[in-house]
Amino acid sequence: MTDPLRADLDAIPRYVPGKAVPNAVKLSSNEVPYGPLPGVVEAIGAAAADVHRYPDLGVVRLREALAERLGVDFDRIATGTGSVALIGHLLQAIGVPGGEVVYSWRSFEAYPIAATVAGLESVQVPNTADHRHDVEAIIAAVGPDTRAVLVCSPNNPTGPAVTAAELDRLFDAIPERVLVVVDEAYREFVTDPACPDAIERYGHRPNAVVFRTFSKAWGLAGLRVGYMVAAPEVADAVRKVVIPFAVNVAAQTAALAALGAEGEMRRRVALVTSERKRTVMAARELVPEVPDTQSNFFWLPLGERAVEFAAHCEARAVLVRPFAGDGVRVTIGLPEENDALLDALRDFVEA
Ligand code: PMP
Repeated sequence: MTDPLRADLDAIPRYVPGKAVPNAVKLSSNEVPYGPLPGVVEAIGAAAADVHRYPDLGVVRLREALAERLGVDFDRIATGTGSVALIGHLLQAIGVPGGEVVYSWRSFEAYPIAATVAGLESVQVPNTADHRHDVEAIIAAVGPDTRAVLVCSPNNPTGPAVTAAELDRLFDAIPERVLVVVDEAYREFVTDPACPDAIERYGHRPNAVVFRTFSKAWGLAGLRVGYMVAAPEVADAVRKVVIPFAVNVAAQTAALAALGAEGEMRRRVALVTSERKRTVMAARELVPEVPDTQSNFFWLPLGERAVEFAAHCEARAVLVRPFAGDGVRVTIGLPEENDALLDALRDFVEA
């Protein structure tokens, strides 16, 4: 540790991006494989003429479009440089000395990093044996110092989403002074009718916060646009914390253009979910423990062989995301990419 750096930063794990290797099949970052939505590239081109000016600080047009689409008030929306930044800002807005944040583990790797940076203690609740959130254990972990509970639905990297019954139980059992934060980065891929749209079902609750992103189904991972819906005071506090001009000119314009191509987004999501069904069924013939997934990725619970499997795939120019000692997350790609992954898995399991 070097003075004056904070000693607790030493303990922060580094965020590991999915690998990128030229010409490899990239199934490591939960992106959608079809390129930008129609109209997006043109919109970015048109926006280029304005890049000598700062972007709209209030992100007004995009927030208005989101408000209308989601049926929520404009002042309940905050935007940021990807939802990962916004999650960090929310935790900064609620971080007090001795405060805690409760979340499932394993879940999104940014949570422990964001919690530590915000000065909050992480209380990690192990997932159930079938890699789902353990709702009763989460409720039991909430204490007097809890500031927020993070629910990742669908859960990155394991795949399942929480049901309406589970979320109802969480909202009913957790005191209103604690924020219940539902991270719905992959909401568009949910097909199980038991898993609710958290904005629709809980958006009116004073302690509900829902995160969404343009990075996944909307195909804008490279431009970094995320948003959240919350009570006006919470959204306002987060807007204060967000770095000024966090969503740049190209990103604001591209997100608006993407919203204009919702039909094509839905068509692409349908392709992904149908490929998901096919790929997961085939993967389960080889690894029966693959859990349910409501997202654009699935989980291979390979335990101690996780890193070895990722290396085996990489040797075949297929990139996946290992979590050492636990499992491997595989993004659904194009049909031939999923076939390459399944071939690699077959060779690995049958060797
Ligand atoms: N939440 C979850 C659960 C994620 O998996 C991700 C991306 N990996 C994010 C949030 C952040 O996405 P972005 O910052 O690109 O909006």
